[in-house]
Amino acid sequence: MAVCPLCKTEDCEAAYHELTIRTLQAGDSSFMHQHTVDAYTAQHARPDTPPIGPFFALAGLYLALEEGFTGREVQLAHMAMAKRKGEFGPWPVFTPPLSRGDVGVVQVAKEESLSEALRRWMESVWTAWEVEQAKVRFETDRLVG
Ligand SMILES: [Zn+2]
Repeated sequence: MAVCPLCKTEDCEAAYHELTIRTLQAGDSSFMHQHTVDAYTAQHARPDTPPIGPFFALAGLYLALEEGFTGREVQLAHMAMAKRKGEFGPWPVFTPPLSRGDVGVVQVAKEESLSEALRRWMESVWTAWEVEQAKVRFETDRLVG
């Protein structure tokens, strides 16, 4: 098993798949699965990743952590953002930080209580992107507000 250079844990893709199944099976009305997708995508964005991925993931982290959105509400916000794209030109590009936080998907997947573990993971990834946070807020608010 290789250690992922971004989250610094072994076999993170397998853990991500496991966590995806668990959060989808949870069938919760708040749809916490969305947080899994956003945290993983933001943590694993590369400079050559198409910009919509990191942007939507970071918008999801911002809306969840700072605006109190549930996963379902983030999903709806993503749809609204996609609809309004034509008004704003190309998706904004964010420069990924070298460090992606201290919490990896492997640790989250091991936890019994997913909602707390997911939150710690999201906070860790969001903090890692600190330099881009103001731009994420601005670009997201333009499309969602
Ligand atoms: Zn990884």
